[in-house]
Amino acid sequence: MASNKKLLVLPGDGIGPEVMNEVRRIVDWMDKRRHVSFDMQDGLCGGAAIDAHGTPLTDETMADALAVDAVLFGSVGGPKWDDLPFAMKPERGLLRLRKEMDLFANLRPAIVFDALADASALKPELVAGLDIMILRELTGGIYFGEPRGIETLPSGERRGFNTQSYTESEIARVARVGFELAGKRQGRLTSVEKANVMESGVLWREVVQQIGDTEFPNIKLNHMYADNCAMQLVRAPKQFDVIVTDNLFGDILSDCAAMLTGSLGMLPSASLGAEDPTTGRRMALYEPVHGSAPDIAGQGKANPLAEVLSFAMLLRYSFDMGEDADMVEKAVANVLASGKRTGDIAAPGQQPISTSEMGAAILSELDKLAA
Ligand code: NAD
Repeated sequence: MASNKKLLVLPGDGIGPEVMNEVRRIVDWMDKRRHVSFDMQDGLCGGAAIDAHGTPLTDETMADALAVDAVLFGSVGGPKWDDLPFAMKPERGLLRLRKEMDLFANLRPAIVFDALADASALKPELVAGLDIMILRELTGGIYFGEPRGIETLPSGERRGFNTQSYTESEIARVARVGFELAGKRQGRLTSVEKANVMESGVLWREVVQQIGDTEFPNIKLNHMYADNCAMQLVRAPKQFDVIVTDNLFGDILSDCAAMLTGSLGMLPSASLGAEDPTTGRRMALYEPVHGSAPDIAGQGKANPLAEVLSFAMLLRYSFDMGEDADMVEKAVANVLASGKRTGDIAAPGQQPISTSEMGAAILSELDKLAA
């Protein structure tokens, strides 16, 4: 029987296909052991698509991405394609997906597994057990606002300018995602802007407060200025549950939060679009935060956990399979607790394991958890 869970898998370039292979093993495991099957379709994106079709994303693959329930992405790019013109670069494939799927909500969890608390730049007691979610608005704000440009003033001096701009509906849709996420977690949402110095921040604060009051009275909402939020993230990060913020502040704060957790090889992400009012389905793309890591590609050294954790997010947010997502995340935590590490998270002097050995260790933990 065909599964009603349709996935498009785009492994991409470099370590993308290597880390994706480990997710495929988990998918097979779920099929056999949990009787959950996915209708998986593979596609090309980035350099792989350029080599095969002369474009970083074909119209057919774009159409497939719009038709499935979720896209699981690897990573794109590499030195082979570095000299191509900007519009032809591998990264354009990913940008096209984000744009045409209208993925306005970017979710970046910052989770510190107990076993890795020592790898953080902060003191272990500040980050042990950390589990926060940064929700960044991804399609609006100053990166897209008009007018923008560099002009020459009558004096001959040049002036660079960009426009921070948000409509009420742009703020409202990402705020709703924030409240819904908080409802599935600890029920707390922090909305971040600079209402003290920016009109767009004043509107942001008003709209988020109004949505909280009228639609999500059970979620505990507070507001914070972005500069204070940056400070609080490194002072006492565990005070947060979900943070919702705009494109610019989210760009900076999510990278700051990511570094609380140690390695790039551990960081998953999800990007969500609007909910279809009739089916309730959201466009969704899940991907590790890291790139294609050409320096270690093809050597079996990549840490597959960011991709595995992205798959866990897919289970949770696209298919409401919280129990299965918990199981995958628990398997990751148990493997780390057992001391197994790929090179990027290994302690000095420790013998690292390979990408596929890490995959095998996850499967063996899943077997134990399912027993
Ligand atoms: P990168 O994330 O690929 O690598 C940065 C460093 O982290 C490298 O030393 C790499 O070996 C290491 N690293 C990354 N992921 C790892 C993993 N899973 N396990 C172990 N180590 C890991 O960033 P970069 O080097 O700046 O970029 C390389 C290429 O990737 C470029 O072509 C860039 O454009 C592209 N890129 C793509 C994406 C994406 O597909 N979303 C994101 C960032 C960069």
